[in-house]
Parts: sequence; structure tokens; C-alpha cells
Amino acid sequence: MKIICIGRNYFKHIQELENDVPLKPLFFLKPETAIQPKGHPFFIPDFSNEIHYEVELVIKIKKTGKHIEKQFAHKYFEEIGLGIDFTARDIQENCKEKGLPWEIAKGFDGSAQISNKFFKKDTFLNKNISFCLKKNNEIVQIGNSKEMIFSFEEIISYVSKFFTLKIGDLIYTGTPSGVGKVEKGDILNGFIEKEKILNVIVK
Ligand code: MG
Repeated sequence: MKIICIGRNYFKHIQELENDVPLKPLFFLKPETAIQPKGHPFFIPDFSNEIHYEVELVIKIKKTGKHIEKQFAHKYFEEIGLGIDFTARDIQENCKEKGLPWEIAKGFDGSAQISNKFFKKDTFLNKNISFCLKKNNEIVQIGNSKEMIFSFEEIISYVSKFFTLKIGDLIYTGTPSGVGKVEKGDILNGFIEKEKILNVIVK
């Protein structure tokens, strides 16, 4: 199983980090070990002083495919959940400056938080999926899938040019604006529509 993450897929988030708008989906991988074991808290790693939350819609691949055309991409996923792409922002900025890969900033243990529940995509009308993240009960991020620069189908089509997608692969589809730092003791809750499906305790 692999975890594919899309970067820079919402304009306001691109602006807040002062990045350029991509012409093609930008993506990177996290290892399977980035998934937080169920029921465990997230421990801030000692190599970073700036771990950021990034709440994202996550799609689960249900069919193996390579070179998938956009018009058929909808057949390759059925379920949509929520995740947090934890990012060591201080390390990532350093990697970006030096042109180095991002793995140590993005792929550490626990960096891929995933919701307990996934929804069937047919639950949502017109691909209009609203989601948000609360930190200590205050909303810090609000997003909607209609604001994505690259749609789920465009992402699947593009990524599958390079990597065979397999059943169970997860794609984190990018974060809206409002990313920020976590501190010990924070509680993060993620919602799709009004339903709380993600709970992370930071230690
Ligand atoms: Mg992200």
C-alpha cells in the first residue's frame, strides 16, 4: 500500500506559503509506516520545532490501474475520507531552499493521520464536499472539494502515468488555507460536512 499526497491544490493555501501555482499536480509519497496506529496519540517528533497540521480529503483506490484516462478515473475510487498530512515545516523549508527531497519533512511516523470513517462518494452531490479541522474546539481550516485546482479524476489520471495504482492506496488531495503549528496537548478534530470522523491527540 502506498500513500500519495498532492501539494498546492488550493489557491489560498498556495498564497499563504508563497508558492507558485502548479501547472500539473505536484505529488510526493509517504511510507506505510506514516499511518498512525488506531487509537494512538500523535507524538511530536524531536527533530522538528514546527509540526504543522494540514487537513485533506483522502480517496481510497479500489481498483488496480496504470495510465488511467481522466474520463474513466471515477471507476478507480469509491470512498472518501479525511486525513491530516503532518508536516515538519521547518525541515521542509530547509529542503525546499536546498532543492532536497521532502521525505524527512513529510513521511515520518504518524505523519499520515486517517479518519475512522470513509463515505461513499455518491453521498455527495456535485462533488461538493465540505470539510473542516478544529483545533481545541476552534475552527482552523475550512475547505470544499470544489475549490481544488486538480480534481480527484485529474489527480488519478496524472499520478497513474508514473505509478501503478493498487487497491487500498490512499491519495491525500491537498490542504486548504489555515495550516498551523501543533503543540503538546492539542486536540484536533476533523469533520466532513457536520460529522466528526477524525480525532487526534497531540503529545
Ligand atoms: Mg498536504
